[in-house]
Amino acid sequence: MPALPEQIKCERCEKMKKLRNFSQKRLHDAQRKMRAGSPPTTICIPCTGGPAQELQCFGCDVWKDLEDFSKSQRKAPDTAKCSSCIKEQVELEPVDSSAQWDDSSDCEI
Ligand SMILES: [Zn+2]
Ligand SMILES: [Zn+2]
Repeated sequence: MPALPEQIKCERCEKMKKLRNFSQKRLHDAQRKMRAGSPPTTICIPCTGGPAQELQCFGCDVWKDLEDFSKSQRKAPDTAKCSSCIKEQVELEPVDSSAQWDDSSDCEI
């Protein structure tokens, strides 16, 4: 059996996804194609109506477990951001400009 690459392309959503996003049956399909000399593409679980295993974060472009996304983010999978990106975003947002002045007083670079 030829080994499948770490990620294969979904024929329907045209995204590269990790093998865990494909059912065993679909992975066999992909392997068969590979043996026939075609690119090992098939259809991912979400595209066949199954539950998604992972989402690609819109912020860091990394595929992460669904657990890493809040419920509201999962509702918009195309622009979903993982919890660490959301956290970063919150921290980067200017909170109160006067607070920054206080900080700089004891910070000598
Ligand atoms: Zn797909
Ligand atoms: Zn992220």
